[in-house]
Amino acid sequence: MTLTPSLTAHLKNPEIFAELASLPDLSATGGAKRFPVLNPSTGELLAILPDMEAADVGVAIDRADAARVDWAGLPARARSDALWQWHQLILYHSDDLAAILTAEMGKPLAEAKSEIAHAAAYLQWYAEEANRIYGETISASSNDRRMLVIKQPIGVIGAITPWNFPASMVARKISPALAAGCTVVLKPAEQTPLVAGAMFALARQAGFPNGVLNLIYASEGDAVGRQLCSNPKVRKISFTGSTEVGRLLMRQCSDQIKKVSFELGGNAPFIVFDDADVDGAVEGAIQAKFRNAGQTCVSANRLYVHSSVHDEFAEKFAERVRTLRVGDGFKTDVAIGPLIDVRAIAKIEAHVSDAVIKGATIRCGGNRIGPSGTFFEPTVITEVTGTMRLAREETFGPLAPIIRFDDPDQVVHAANDTIYGLAAYFYASNLKRVWRVAEALEYGMVGINTGRMSSEAAPFGGLKQSGIGREGSRHGLEDYLEMKYLCIGGL
Ligand code: NAD
Repeated sequence: MTLTPSLTAHLKNPEIFAELASLPDLSATGGAKRFPVLNPSTGELLAILPDMEAADVGVAIDRADAARVDWAGLPARARSDALWQWHQLILYHSDDLAAILTAEMGKPLAEAKSEIAHAAAYLQWYAEEANRIYGETISASSNDRRMLVIKQPIGVIGAITPWNFPASMVARKISPALAAGCTVVLKPAEQTPLVAGAMFALARQAGFPNGVLNLIYASEGDAVGRQLCSNPKVRKISFTGSTEVGRLLMRQCSDQIKKVSFELGGNAPFIVFDDADVDGAVEGAIQAKFRNAGQTCVSANRLYVHSSVHDEFAEKFAERVRTLRVGDGFKTDVAIGPLIDVRAIAKIEAHVSDAVIKGATIRCGGNRIGPSGTFFEPTVITEVTGTMRLAREETFGPLAPIIRFDDPDQVVHAANDTIYGLAAYFYASNLKRVWRVAEALEYGMVGINTGRMSSEAAPFGGLKQSGIGREGSRHGLEDYLEMKYLCIGGL
């Protein structure tokens, strides 16, 4: 791995990452192919990485398989200690990790620091959870037998992560897997492999045995995905990314009936009822919509606002959005960084023009800005209807469409009218409404009077085509454990 000065200039301890992130055991197996990692704000070259191929993936899987039995056989306390060490190192190096994240992904440095803290929180949570893997005993029907359930690690996990939260998605997958006693082969997104490499470098220092964690750098996902799905030594695929790739992976896993955990796309509704605290809803919508420049799977994609509070909300919201400063994530006071690439900008532009042609009004924003072609103004659009593209598809950018509604029952129906079921939000104060709407929304996560709900302590995941399984909390650990029934007879 070669790190360029445009990356190392941001680091306090560049030598640690330059040396450790070379991961010599894996990259040595790579051929001559290389791929670049670029800063989306400036287009500058940050690093050149080995572009690993099918043979390298096979080597990584073999290493993970060879390490599997010993890792699973360690006392839970030893796995917990290694996770705890890793957590401590990530906190110690959090400034450098955040700088790497901002450089390769673009998000404002303050958001990058908060993501690193969130990633570390998963490691801490699962360092503790590793010690709490319990089985069951079942009251037997006769006294000459005993029936028990034990929990065992699934085995080698193939993990694939996206670019939008390149540190916390890695931690959210790997830490429960390691706590459960699984070994891992991870392929981070090609746009943001550096923070994953830096985290793995710190994992080495934390003392994980060879083969327990394996990193694949690759310039695209298809070949690696095929290898992970088709190799029988990989017992489960854990994927976070688009629903489209999730569907493909599910097909590829079907031959071997391989287990899958999927965290996929979303189309989150954000409903403001007539009994809502409007100012609170404005702040909540800013959080839920514009964090990470709208590039979050739980981003508020459609804002439904009751007629009685619509004009007040739209005015206050647009006023607040105009204060959000757009720019390079390393600059102070920047709230909105670049989008990941020019394709992402093109999608937002298509959504804006479709809405305007169909009668919507741009209240603020609406244009790309800056020379790199990767920045877009935070945008509010009103007079939106549910049939416009921006209400049907995940925009994944700083675009907030507002849909006016009158009928509170109808709005829940409209909110559920999507193939996705990841996150929903609503603002209301009437207790009966709060409870009824929370139950009626067909989503895996519902934020009530808040625009932010992710936590290592809570189960994160979606219904419908937003995914399978949960990450975080004790439920996230179960996703990496097999249940085995033991029946002891002749007693
Ligand atoms: P993506 O599906 O294009 O890529 C995600 C990962 O999959 C990357 O590592 C990529 O290299 C890999 N990949 C791409 N094609 C592949 C293939 N054919 N086989 C195997 N792997 C392949 O998604 P993205 O654009 O990087 O991320 C954005 C999407 O991720 C959005 O839809 C977002 O909602 C979703 N997401 C979901 C969650 C969640 O927890 N539900 C979290 C973050 C992002």
